[in-house]
Amino acid sequence: MAERLGAWQILLACLPPFFRNGMRRALLAVLALIVAVVGTALFRASSLKPAPALTAGTIAIPALPSADSSAAHLSAAVRFQTVTISETAPPPAAALDSMRGWMERTYPLAHKAMSREQIDGYSLLYKLTGKDAALAPIVLMGHMDVVPVEAGTETNWKHPPFSGAVADGEVWGRGSLDDKVNVVGLMEAIEAMLAGGFQPDRTIYIAFGHNEEVLGSGAKAIADTLRARGVRPALVLDEGGAILSEGLGLKRPAALVGVGEKGFMSVQLEVKSAGGHSSSPPPQTATGILARAVANVQERPLPRRLTPPVRSMIAAMAPEMGGAAKVVLGNLWLTKPLVLAQFGKKPETDAMLRTTTAPTMLQGSAKENALAARATAVINYRLLPGDSREDILAHVRRAVDDPRVNVSAYSTGAEPSTLSRPEGPAWAALSRAVGAVDTNTVMIPWLTTGGTDARYYSGMSDAVYRFSALVTSPAAMTLAHGMNERVSVAGFAGVVRFYARIIAEGGARW
Ligand SMILES: [Zn+2]
Repeated sequence: MAERLGAWQILLACLPPFFRNGMRRALLAVLALIVAVVGTALFRASSLKPAPALTAGTIAIPALPSADSSAAHLSAAVRFQTVTISETAPPPAAALDSMRGWMERTYPLAHKAMSREQIDGYSLLYKLTGKDAALAPIVLMGHMDVVPVEAGTETNWKHPPFSGAVADGEVWGRGSLDDKVNVVGLMEAIEAMLAGGFQPDRTIYIAFGHNEEVLGSGAKAIADTLRARGVRPALVLDEGGAILSEGLGLKRPAALVGVGEKGFMSVQLEVKSAGGHSSSPPPQTATGILARAVANVQERPLPRRLTPPVRSMIAAMAPEMGGAAKVVLGNLWLTKPLVLAQFGKKPETDAMLRTTTAPTMLQGSAKENALAARATAVINYRLLPGDSREDILAHVRRAVDDPRVNVSAYSTGAEPSTLSRPEGPAWAALSRAVGAVDTNTVMIPWLTTGGTDARYYSGMSDAVYRFSALVTSPAAMTLAHGMNERVSVAGFAGVVRFYARIIAEGGARW
């Protein structure tokens, strides 16, 4: 630094007086600009005030079941092996039938007060008719199916994956977190509300898909049914968020609510050749050409950018932070490149900033000494709102830039969802329900990077939110499809409180 100042002084001394004065003025101007910019940034940051505490609403809620009683029901639901394997495999019919029967026996008032339709075979659509038919209904969602337990890992679980063991203050098992916590939580709450004589102003639909884990034809059929009946929900709530007690750097718990979700599609790269024996290969084999194409695609990721949900997320987080983080997040006009770079460091946060590129499947020749007559690769893309499947195909063709490589859509995928606003009366009702878990929670909108059944409600409602009210940590969230999936008994009681409140508040006139 000292050397550089010295160089400036020498340069100034060498210049004629006219230039010397001009240079000084320029330097002063630059200095003044820096002071103004930094001052503005600091002032803006200091004027950001944390959001006020949530309220829990005022509508009377009847007594809810004890945490242990609810946990016993979640445990029973985990024992039904409602495992979806693949799009082409048949649904686990026997397990879904048994679970449906169990629900009828466990929640008799719900099954008396609500109508129930079976749609797409096994998905369930319940309807609790509201007092005022003129009010738009709300739709509360969950899914009954679970992902398989990875073969060979069953014995590594602390408690067998379909035991539903209640131990150490947790309910253990596949599906406890994803998504029976929401299915059973909703049923616990509606049963208790009905026992207390509750009748909503608005009609409440409860929609449980039976194959969310393999693209959700059941949830799609339910959404199509409602659309065909002219239903325009005032609020749709599905999984896809959580209450994080830590991990975001905030001073209090954060309710991450997905206000949109990414789309997805897979693109196939295909190279054909005459094949032949590997003892006399051409300079580039089909496999080699394909490998170059995959590398080209991987090296040309789509650019990072801030979409409305992520801007809303940052705007909600900034006032809750302290120190430098508050200044940086509170001044995107100045710090956007820095924020993009910081978020881009971790795959989880990078995924919120760009359409991601993931080469997944590769196939060449089946024999070591045979040239592939056909080599294929599949690249999975998760699309940011604003990108379309057509955009991605065009991008891949440009990135590959090789006429020998045929680029086509491998799967239909889904466009990114429409975006819901993190404000308005439906958001306010949701906030009051989150307040029933803990009023010291801050609402943080975000972009759900995985897929949920809620995408089928795109365009049907202005308020489609993805959120589960379980208080959790980033580490615990990864248990969803992994080993030792579990939900805390206390956390589940909070979920039931949340649902009782969203049924009361969401079902009210607003
Ligand atoms: Zn799920």
